[in-house]
Amino acid sequence: MAIQRTFSIIKPDATKRNLTGAIAAKFEVAGLRIVASKRIQMTLAQAETFYGVHSERPFFGELCEFMISEPIVVQVLEGEDAIAKNREVMGATNPADADEGTIRKEFALSIGENSVHGSDAPETAAEEIAFFFSGLELVG
Ligand code: GDP
Repeated sequence: MAIQRTFSIIKPDATKRNLTGAIAAKFEVAGLRIVASKRIQMTLAQAETFYGVHSERPFFGELCEFMISEPIVVQVLEGEDAIAKNREVMGATNPADADEGTIRKEFALSIGENSVHGSDAPETAAEEIAFFFSGLELVG
């Protein structure tokens, strides 16, 4: 597998509980390099655009309100098979189903407040990175 880049968000429930460093350490231990990182707070319009694919789901409003409730940390992670590896380190969407040692098992509060987002495919990774980072912010 080639070196890939993926997009990650440390969500409001995690930044609020001061878990940014603990979560970043999980990425690094798994061999994912943090090649870009910034702490921001999204507007509602940005959250609705970012999660547009879920706009018909019953939890859409709740999800967007949650994502703007506190600052988030957006990151680009790089490594061998980074997209799948990050999904592995994150664990299942619902922490009740997540494997031992995963971020969501250790830190997530619920299926909604689940501490991290990670891209699910190369196309979404490229789109999500471009949504939050300019070319100048991305070291080659
Ligand atoms: P992910 O790729 O594992 O993050 O999962 P999905 O793409 O299916 O869902 C996106 C995000 O929507 C999840 O990470 C949760 O924050 C949220 N979400 C998914 N299902 C539910 C739900 O049943 N209730 C609520 N409140 N949020 C949900």
